[in-house]
Amino acid sequence: MIMAEERKTIYLCLAHMSEEGIEQKYVKEAFDTNWVVPMGPNVNAFEQNLADFANSNSDGSKLDRKVVCLSAGTAAVHLALLACGVGPGDEVCVQSFTFCASSHPITYLGASPVFIDSEKETWNMDPALLEKAIVERKEKTGKYPKAIVPVALYGMPYKVDEIMAIADKYGIPVVEDAAEGMGSRFNGQVLGTFGKFGVLSFNGNKMITTSGGGALICRDAEDANTVMWRATQARDSYPYYQHSAIGYNYRMSNVCAGIGRGQMTVLDKHIAHHKHVQALYEELLKDVDGVDIHKQPADPRYDANFWLCTATIDENIKIKGQENVYKEVIKTAVGGAAGVIKAVDSATTDCQPNDNVEALRVYMLAKKIECRPVWKPMHKQPVYANAVSYVNGVSESLFKIGFCLPAGPYVSDDDVRYIVDSIKEAIVK
Ligand SMILES: *Cc1c(COP(=O)(O)O)cnc(C)c1O
Repeated sequence: MIMAEERKTIYLCLAHMSEEGIEQKYVKEAFDTNWVVPMGPNVNAFEQNLADFANSNSDGSKLDRKVVCLSAGTAAVHLALLACGVGPGDEVCVQSFTFCASSHPITYLGASPVFIDSEKETWNMDPALLEKAIVERKEKTGKYPKAIVPVALYGMPYKVDEIMAIADKYGIPVVEDAAEGMGSRFNGQVLGTFGKFGVLSFNGNKMITTSGGGALICRDAEDANTVMWRATQARDSYPYYQHSAIGYNYRMSNVCAGIGRGQMTVLDKHIAHHKHVQALYEELLKDVDGVDIHKQPADPRYDANFWLCTATIDENIKIKGQENVYKEVIKTAVGGAAGVIKAVDSATTDCQPNDNVEALRVYMLAKKIECRPVWKPMHKQPVYANAVSYVNGVSESLFKIGFCLPAGPYVSDDDVRYIVDSIKEAIVK
């Protein structure tokens, strides 16, 4: 048993390079050939690697999707919505239980999100609520929502068949947010290949990383071409700069794509490790009363990557230090290292995790374990206070009792045992 003082902090999910340093070989190549620009051989090869991965079904059959590399997953959501024709005054049905990058780009386009709550099994978009929203919004506004954005939260596949059937029934395109679900499959097919578009993210904490970056899986070469054109300032074919549309500077750097090429060599290993860690948590948490690890549905079509492992804690379970939580205004924030945090003057909000979840976070941090609340639903965010939402209480109640546990290649079996022991220790008997 390693003592707390000797331990390094166990983070939720960290970038993890190949042991052979293949990433650096491709990055060096970019420098050696002077392709230090947002296009080039690494970008082309990474796109091909990604397409090969996305197109390979478990049964050996192949798809024919095209992939465009972009500067971020958020940019991929933005360009996908644009390609679906989303514009000012339109509505887009988006999963509420998600990271803000699923919904913010809807507002960039002058459109409005219609937030859809989750079902209990996968924690993702509830098909019944989605259909209700589609029908009601048509009645109220005279038009159907322009797109549907389901999310593979923490990598868990959503109810793909049901969501796609509803989308087809009403003729609405689907933008799959598979940013957290890279390599998750439904019925043997990679997530992101079911919709009109599929979003991938290579941010530092995702399944693989390019430091920052993303990609859009497209149905055909024509869509991919349009996306690429918009991602490079929408230039028309003249000897001078001529523009017939508004574009963006969203292409991926050839340096970053070099990292991505290297990471593709460890992707399968990463996914296998995430699944292994989940299995170990499931085993070790089995007899911890009041703590339930979130599992995938027993239906064999579900094949989650378990990007993060998540669990819930019964509100009646007491955690050490619980009486002292939410007393002080916090100076940092979740993911605070990633950017500037706006100072706040209250220690609490009107919708927050239960005291025992916060106490567990604090207890685990002292044990050098990062243990975060699950994402706060978008329909409970102040910035979306006026948005239309279709709710059933599921995501809000999960937010109050849920937490994320470290996963990923850096998390060893010994770490998982230490984490579970720490949870047991934190519970007041
Ligand atoms: C990470 C993430 C994105 C995109 O993120 P980038 O950081 O812009 O690459 C989109 N949706 C979800 C659900 C995410 O977790």
